[in-house]
Amino acid sequence: MSEFDDDMLFKLAVEMERKKAEEKEKKRLRYLKTLETRREKKKTREENNPIQTANEKIKTRGKARERRDFIRKTVFDHYGNKCVCCGETIEVFLTVDHIYNDGAEHRKEVGSGIRLYKWLIDNDFPDGFQLLCRNCNWGKHVNNGICPHKA
Ligand SMILES: [Zn+2]
Ligand SMILES: [Zn+2]
Repeated sequence: MSEFDDDMLFKLAVEMERKKAEEKEKKRLRYLKTLETRREKKKTREENNPIQTANEKIKTRGKARERRDFIRKTVFDHYGNKCVCCGETIEVFLTVDHIYNDGAEHRKEVGSGIRLYKWLIDNDFPDGFQLLCRNCNWGKHVNNGICPHKA
């Protein structure tokens, strides 16, 4: 390739980059513009109906929490409500553990936390999962897959 071609290619690449950046900026501005309109609309609606809005917010928030609690409880019940390693039973300490340490892969696939719990229910509690407390879960993680309690 001659020097001339190289130069052309370089200029072309620069030009493409510039156009890309331009497009991006345009998109961003468009987004910001509609964001403002959306916010204003929401604000007017809320100002016109303050009580209704507040009630709605509480209701949807409450329902979402209820649903999450139910899902978590169903899963923890299934796994015996305690850490299989140390016997911890306080719920906030407990978490579902991937027995075979393929958690990262799986979480990428189905998500973590409540999404994982929902997946477990939807899939009829497949093998490969157990309940661990956060301590034992972390201990296992940093100790080659075996909680230091057991090592
Ligand atoms: Zn434990
Ligand atoms: Zn342990």
